[in-house]
Amino acid sequence: MQELLGHKDVKTTMIYTHVLNRGGLAALAGSVLIATGAVAFSHLAGHPSPHPELLLLAVAAGGLCGSLFDSLLGATVQQILFCPACAMETECHPYHRCGTATRRLRGWRWLNNDGVNFVSSVVGAGVAAGWWLWLGGAGGP
Ligand SMILES: [Zn+2]
Repeated sequence: MQELLGHKDVKTTMIYTHVLNRGGLAALAGSVLIATGAVAFSHLAGHPSPHPELLLLAVAAGGLCGSLFDSLLGATVQQILFCPACAMETECHPYHRCGTATRRLRGWRWLNNDGVNFVSSVVGAGVAAGWWLWLGGAGGP
């Protein structure tokens, strides 16, 4: 039982770490990028946004959704590797930093850390763009 609880704690901590250190930032960066592009495009098209402040809201929503999506993938289908020598989970492949070959613990073989980051960024950016348009940030017809 103690072992079970201990493992659960580690897992929860790992998810928080994912959100704070990694996916959140990647998703936020993607959202900022698409939002900046949207504003630039609206200016180029001759219809500058009447509500640029809505962009902040959309970017925040996009970043949040992206990071949630990232932690969801990270906790479910992302490839998690295991180092038998250190008895710890890792993202290093094919060798852990200690030099031992890692083996796959769970997740999809092709979905590594970078893949999850990428997908989460796209999702975050899509949500940001969608929200911005929905809020009317791009201006009327
Ligand atoms: Zn190791």
